[in-house]
Amino acid sequence: MKINFNTSSNIETMHLGERLAYILPLGSTICLKGDLGAGKTTLVKGVAKGLNINETVISPTFNIMKLYLKGKIPLVHIDAYRLLDNDADIGLDEYIGIDNGITMIEWPDYINKLIPKDAINITITNKKDDERLIEIESDNKDFIDEVNKL
Ligand code: ADP
Ligand code: MG
Repeated sequence: MKINFNTSSNIETMHLGERLAYILPLGSTICLKGDLGAGKTTLVKGVAKGLNINETVISPTFNIMKLYLKGKIPLVHIDAYRLLDNDADIGLDEYIGIDNGITMIEWPDYINKLIPKDAINITITNKKDDERLIEIESDNKDFIDEVNKL
């Protein structure tokens, strides 16, 4: 099941993320797909805001993973970009799908083996200028029903 959104600024994408934060099931893994500059990190910033995380969320490309523990629930933010074709066993699997929190992964295809089968997929496509198509896909009907109400 898939639901589409269109945003026309980074603020709108952040706002979508903020509203998503209230309905993301505990323990869920969200795979964020899309080109560099699509808005993946921007969406994570919005989710962090919705979880009352006051720390500034930056792209963890260099560090690969950042864990935020000071919000309503833990948020794990992974950027697997630097792991391309690299089977580095750095223990990421211990964090992915953390059951009392939310895991958001940029470039999930680079760590395919570690992605849970029931992950939510969010694909962001660059349209013209600041316009983005944001597609949210999940097999979880209850979640999709909630996304429909956003
Ligand atoms: P990614 O993590 O996918 O590489 P970022 O979120 O870091 O992308 O960057 C997205 C860039 O695009 C930011 O500079 C942001 O301000 C800009 N932008 C413009 N329009 C949008 C939009 N509708 N949604 C998200 N970001 C947008
Ligand atoms: Mg990013």
